[in-house]
Amino acid sequence: MSRDRERGNADATLACKHEAGRFAPVIDPNRCEGKSACVAECPYDVFVVRRRERDELPGLTLLGTLKWWAHGGQQAQALRADQCHGCGLCVSACPEDAISLKRA
Ligand code: SF4
Repeated sequence: MSRDRERGNADATLACKHEAGRFAPVIDPNRCEGKSACVAECPYDVFVVRRRERDELPGLTLLGTLKWWAHGGQQAQALRADQCHGCGLCVSACPEDAISLKRA
């Protein structure tokens, strides 16, 4: 991680006014291509990118299934969603616009 990015994440952490657990990230499996921008940006290590099995992603469309297959099943998962502070860095960072925030 670059020094600027480390500083940016630290600033976001300080600027984040929400307590953990008020918001949670929602990942659209039809958009996620496992590029890991969310993993790199989240100051609270909410995400992992790993191979997801097809039956873990029941909302996949035909196009989403093709993308899932083309990317070897690699998708983000919000394993520590309860640690989300709602800073929005992951939403801005995702190149596929796959992440939104919802109130928990
Ligand atoms: S909004 Fe995204 S980047 Fe910020 S804490 Fe929550 S999951 Fe992490």
